[in-house]
Amino acid sequence: MLVLGIETSCDETGVALYDSERGLLADALFSQIDLHRVYGGVVPELASRDHIKRILPLIEQVLNEAHCSKQDIQGIVYTAGPGLVGALLVGASCAQALAFAWDVPAVGVHHMEGHLLAPMLEETPPQFPFVALLVSGGHTQLVRVDEIGQYRLLGESIDDAAGEAFDKTAKMMGLRYPGGPEIARLAEKGVSGRFVLPKPMTDRPGLEFSFSGLKTATLTAWQKCLAAGDDCEQTRADLAHAFQAAVVTTLTIKCQRALQQEGLKNLVIAGGVSANQALRKSLESMLVKHGGQVFYARPEFCTDNGAMIAYAGCQRLLAGQHEGRAIHVRARWPLEELPALL
Ligand code: ATP
Ligand code: MG
Ligand code: FE
Repeated sequence: MLVLGIETSCDETGVALYDSERGLLADALFSQIDLHRVYGGVVPELASRDHIKRILPLIEQVLNEAHCSKQDIQGIVYTAGPGLVGALLVGASCAQALAFAWDVPAVGVHHMEGHLLAPMLEETPPQFPFVALLVSGGHTQLVRVDEIGQYRLLGESIDDAAGEAFDKTAKMMGLRYPGGPEIARLAEKGVSGRFVLPKPMTDRPGLEFSFSGLKTATLTAWQKCLAAGDDCEQTRADLAHAFQAAVVTTLTIKCQRALQQEGLKNLVIAGGVSANQALRKSLESMLVKHGGQVFYARPEFCTDNGAMIAYAGCQRLLAGQHEGRAIHVRARWPLEELPALL
């Protein structure tokens, strides 16, 4: 089955063609980062308007790249939530209009299910069951995954998401948006030991996360440096290093706990923060000790993309799930509400 996938939940217009037999045929992305950078974060109205401009040319682009015509498309899938409602509506209405015109089924996909299944597009996909750590701009969740659509939330952040903490901390330190990759780059030049930051909620049992205290602790440390007239590049790098180390250690401890609690060996990490090299390394060495394995997507499929949506939606269409022609999106949508595949 050849499926067109459309992602417009935030500030990336992602489009892809996925074929259940031949795999991923083409994917294209337009990132609005430059558009939002001057504001230091995503401006929802600007995001919606830009998706409108990009979506049809991107669809033509993937059709050309895959040497397919619109008559070959057998289903259209799109991100229906969670995300920015205006942005979601652009993708949903475009998808439903094309599905009506081409007389093919359409189905709305959960954005986080897309992230979670992105590692399935890699050469060695994970086997079910596994524990998934979803770490993105809006989510930090540990989920037990028994099958596609069978998700049990084990724990999540009670305040900021991990990606959000990276972005906000970077902004406080005068770094560019989005802050995750900026902090990661800076942290490479940093030396450990100079700043010691808290590892939130690791000293008590449970699988909850909290990143807002760490963000404040980092700000306090940074303000102290500024007051002492020390804002040199090395100081910034050392602090970025300490912040990243605190996040990575916290996530690693909770992943190990979740695997132990569930009696599982396989860990999947997904979402933008799963592109972080220090996090990957830390989880890999933890799992070597415990005889498990960590799975993740290629870096460009960790952040938002059309390929993960095309893949996830294709599985649902193949299972016979689709919806009518109504255009329906959700800003909030718990992953556990998704139906099982069969
Ligand atoms: P959600 O998926 O929860 O709706 P989102 O779609 O905005 O949120 P993603 O696109 O999955 O989030 O990821 C973007 C986030 O990932 C940003 O917060 C960004 O700073 C972070 N990020 C990207 N690369 C890295 C990296 N190398 N290290 C740390 N964080 C990173
Ligand atoms: Mg984004
Ligand atoms: Fe995302």
